[in-house]
Amino acid sequence: AQSNRLDRFLSQTVSGLNRKAVRLLLAQGRVTVDGQIAREIHQSVDFFSQISLDGEILQANQAHYVMLHKPKGVVSATQDPEHRTVIDLLDHPDKHSLHIVGRLDLNSSGLLLLTNDGRWSSRLTDPEHKVEKRYQVTLENPVTEDYISAFAEGMYFPFEEITTRPAQLTLINDYQVEVVLTEGRYHQIKRMFGRFRNPVLALHRVAIGSIQLDSGLAAGDSRDLSPEEWRL
Ligand code: URA
Repeated sequence: AQSNRLDRFLSQTVSGLNRKAVRLLLAQGRVTVDGQIAREIHQSVDFFSQISLDGEILQANQAHYVMLHKPKGVVSATQDPEHRTVIDLLDHPDKHSLHIVGRLDLNSSGLLLLTNDGRWSSRLTDPEHKVEKRYQVTLENPVTEDYISAFAEGMYFPFEEITTRPAQLTLINDYQVEVVLTEGRYHQIKRMFGRFRNPVLALHRVAIGSIQLDSGLAAGDSRDLSPEEWRL
């Protein structure tokens, strides 16, 4: 959601309002933003600001922040010719306005976030912000200590000509680890374990930044984030 100045929003939205008329409306206290009388022409508003003039709603877009426990076998896309999509799983009135914040592979499961707030999703997915994504990974073969330094050092991917950022690997037991990434390269975790010729049997995301998958959500279920969860 792009931000805009309140006076600009008003002159763009209400036909026939010049700058002087906008100033007058504000001075008269006839405009509210998010329920508060707005008098400041420079006040910044965005797509999700609730704006009224003389009690009549000019803009009332609702921001949505949804967490889904993605099951395996469902595709992280809004449309797919073959598979069920994560949107199909949602029981949300505005589900077709939502976009996915950081996809998961078809056979991965766990925390998937969806929103209609583009600024929020950009902050979570912008590589500069180095938001931590936390995964539980189950491997076919036992994992040894030497994986830890290999993940921490980073791996060179010749196809993209990049070296992965330091990733944190913690052993849970011989076949299960937790991996923390601050980026999301194509099939990154599978390819990193591929260097050890150790196939990934299951990949489950448990957290994105401070947002944790709700343990009360069964695979396929979703719920709105609380304000404490979505406030970054
Ligand atoms: N790494 C993968 O290989 N797959 C995912 O879904 C996420 C990270």
